[in-house]
Amino acid sequence: MSVSGKPPYDPANIFARILRGEIPCQRVDESEHALAFHDIAPQAPVHVLVIPKGDWVSAADFHAGASNAAIAGFWRLVAKVARDLGLEDRGYRLLSNMGEDAGQEVAHFHVHLFGGRRLGRMVP
Ligand code: 5GP
Repeated sequence: MSVSGKPPYDPANIFARILRGEIPCQRVDESEHALAFHDIAPQAPVHVLVIPKGDWVSAADFHAGASNAAIAGFWRLVAKVARDLGLEDRGYRLLSNMGEDAGQEVAHFHVHLFGGRRLGRMVP
């Protein structure tokens, strides 16, 4: 769902199709509320995408419209994946692109989890 109404949620987007099992993914972990899988074009030794199981276009939509249980469940899976992949000691980066200016490619809210090497400085 898109709270802002622009764009509306498109159920044909690639992550919706992954959630429905229509196309495969390299699954890392899953909970009632979220799915974690490896990015198809990794930008770091660890590059995992975590997506909620609801129909949310962006971070704004998700945090405005999802239930507290869904929001907590989503972020708990993000933290669990980082812990299970051994990233807690040396650290990691979370990133979410939202909308056109950020270059959001897939219109289903997702968080990138990067780690496994010294990451470069954040540059806009
Ligand atoms: P965005 O730019 O929307 O934040 O990031 C979308 C991410 O999804 C990109 O890093 C891209 O490599 C990844 N991606 C696009 N299509 C697929 C796919 O079919 N499978 C997987 N695992 N990742 C994908």
